[in-house]
Amino acid sequence: MRLIAERCKGCVNCIKHCPTEAIRIRGGKARITESRCIDCGECIRRCPNHAKTAVTDCLEHIKQYPFNVALPAPSLYGQFNSDVTIEKILESLLQVGFDTVFEVALGADIVSRAIAEYLKRPDIKRPAISSACPAVVRLVQVQFPELIDHLIPIDAPVEVSTRIARDEAVKRTGLAPENIGVWFITPCPAKMTTVKQPLGSETSNISGAIGISEIYGDLLRAFPDCNGGQKLRRASPAGIGWALSGGEVSAVQAAKALVVNEIESVNGVLEQVALGKLKEVEYIECLSCAGGCIGGPLTVESRFVAQYRMQQRVDGKMNPDAIGNLSVNVDYAAVLGGDERRVIEPRPVMRLDEDISRALYKVEVMEDTLKRLPGLDCGSCGSPNCKALAEDIAQGTACETDCLFKLREKVRDLAREMVEVADRLPPPLVKQSGDES
Ligand code: SF4
Ligand code: SF4
Repeated sequence: MRLIAERCKGCVNCIKHCPTEAIRIRGGKARITESRCIDCGECIRRCPNHAKTAVTDCLEHIKQYPFNVALPAPSLYGQFNSDVTIEKILESLLQVGFDTVFEVALGADIVSRAIAEYLKRPDIKRPAISSACPAVVRLVQVQFPELIDHLIPIDAPVEVSTRIARDEAVKRTGLAPENIGVWFITPCPAKMTTVKQPLGSETSNISGAIGISEIYGDLLRAFPDCNGGQKLRRASPAGIGWALSGGEVSAVQAAKALVVNEIESVNGVLEQVALGKLKEVEYIECLSCAGGCIGGPLTVESRFVAQYRMQQRVDGKMNPDAIGNLSVNVDYAAVLGGDERRVIEPRPVMRLDEDISRALYKVEVMEDTLKRLPGLDCGSCGSPNCKALAEDIAQGTACETDCLFKLREKVRDLAREMVEVADRLPPPLVKQSGDES
């Protein structure tokens, strides 16, 4: 996540909606505390001045590899009109410079089967929480570390797709694996961070991530040269449906499943799980974007329009003869990455101090300060709410007069004191004429 400082007006819209309170306005500009950011993209959506942006790769970057594979997210299919077949979209990726394509929806087909098997195990923590959305996994790490054991320990479809795609490319070209570029065409910034700091594995197999909005224009320009006759498509409608909220549950055919999307609602549901209130639920599909991945901040189409188009494709109403079948022979254990996985660790960024006695002192300062603050949670101090300002004061990164109400009180007190002092002043000396003599 990056701030374009000259566009930021310090309007506080973003700080009010960040789910992990990662943003502060200091010196009139928004600042993100990286360790708290879960890359949900909410600040990109909320900024009226387009001052927040996600750092992604661009098409130029693929030139560093002799052979390149495009990994289109299923949500890419919802960005184009109904008359554009999936084959045509895949072919346009070849036109803009990729050597081959591998649908992430096909990885989703494989992951769906693995999750269905996993959910049959009697020894797992329930409700099992989907780990497909990296922003949700990070939210659990930062805010609900006690729920880490509930996360499904299976890699997301994009990681699984990358393993198979690289393998297939090595066999096809005879090149070494490190000479194959595998690029995710992504609807969201969290996937970009996954490339740099993978969740659940030491290194990501993905070479980079290109935002859908970054490549959209190039694909449109390539369409006239595509006839869609190359039969590149292999994923099933169920795998494609992962782009929609509820698509994962329907592909897994999970019983007693709860579907939640939008980061604020996800936060609320996870809070209930942490309080032990959802014991009867078997499986929770959580997606940080409204409507699922089709609502990602790096998409270009309205999520409602994209949802309609995706549903048509999933139901097979659009180009039914183009609907593919799951046709890939894979070694499940290898592509699901079981051996490479490491335990997902908590990210205890909410801790006040490493030293327990200093932390306790800071808690006291926080509580005392909070009692003095007005409790309006207006955000005009640059912190998202009064509690966060009290925490910032305890941490030494803010002061009480950052609160406009406290500042006004202070100015009023000072003015009163000055009037009182002025009243106590001796009367001015009035010189009489002739005093000099
Ligand atoms: S991406 Fe999400 S978590 Fe990160 S600063 Fe923006 S709103 Fe906060
Ligand atoms: S929403 Fe945040 S980043 Fe955008 S102008 Fe307002 S304060 Fe700056």
